[in-house]
Amino acid sequence: MKNTILIVSSIMLVFTSWASGQVLEKPEVMILTTGGTIASRNTGPTLEGHALVQAVPQLIDYASITVEEITRTGSSRITPQIWLHLGKRINQIFSQDPKLSGIVVTHGTDTLEETAYYLNLVIKDDRPVVMVGSMRSSDRISADGPSNIVQAVRVATAKHSKNRGVMIVMNDEINSARDAWKTDNQRVQTFRSIDHGVLGFADPDTIIFYRSATHLHTVKSGFRLDNIETLPEVPIVIDYPGFDGSTIAQWTERKPAGIVVQTFAGGRMSSGAADGIRKALERNIPVVIASRVPGGRIPGEPSIEGTVLARDLPAHKARVLLMVALADSSDQKNLTFIFSQY
Ligand code: ASP
Repeated sequence: MKNTILIVSSIMLVFTSWASGQVLEKPEVMILTTGGTIASRNTGPTLEGHALVQAVPQLIDYASITVEEITRTGSSRITPQIWLHLGKRINQIFSQDPKLSGIVVTHGTDTLEETAYYLNLVIKDDRPVVMVGSMRSSDRISADGPSNIVQAVRVATAKHSKNRGVMIVMNDEINSARDAWKTDNQRVQTFRSIDHGVLGFADPDTIIFYRSATHLHTVKSGFRLDNIETLPEVPIVIDYPGFDGSTIAQWTERKPAGIVVQTFAGGRMSSGAADGIRKALERNIPVVIASRVPGGRIPGEPSIEGTVLARDLPAHKARVLLMVALADSSDQKNLTFIFSQY
């Protein structure tokens, strides 16, 4: 049955082009799969990458598709090593295939925004990289995966998707990798860009953009990690009322490459956190201050000299940027500049 759909739609495609005397070449898209709910089933093992794509035969109406499985895991098990491998593989694919229109990455939604932001910092090509997932497994009623993956391929083949940084496409919405958060544990419209709004939409008739990502990304990013084998260790420590700073002290003993502290609104923090941070700075450990509040940025100068403000980046994305930046340099001045640009 499946193959028939494939053959029929390709015949239709060729027919129409024959009628108009033109041979329409479909754009080429590479789909890299990593697992997640989009590939999972309540009644059976997670779908292998090719099986995931073959389960959506309509895809060939939009592009000629190549599939490669990177991993097959729930995204709570995604690691910085997988980020590194994925970033290098995407740069390699783009450098080897100038005809490719774009790349789609299927991924679980739990940590999709971290992987998307990481790729936004290290991809060295202006062609679209589109991350996609789903909130309902592939065998649930009204599974959102098939429509999401078709929309992702449509965005990856649209000429005007170039140079917009890494994008997240779900529920017909196109969000920027830097700005989007998973904001709901259940709903299909879970990804939101709280302050900035969507980049655009995958509408039935066209892919439409209303704005572009403003911070540095992909080809304009100064980070080159293709020769890096491991990313530096950067823990996140969460501040809370009455915190005594002990976990910062424990991490300081382990001498991580850097520490991200998630503080209260505006970068304000408990005295315990402040004490812990000062001790980490004395040991030359870069410390980034991120607000736990999703809207707005931390303005002005840091309350503790020597720390770096994450501005509007949440702690989990500030960690990604600090890891990538530290692969470059740990100079505080430079880090402050980096956190103002990316
Ligand atoms: N647990 C899933 C994950 O891999 C959730 C999802 O994909 O929606 O992230």
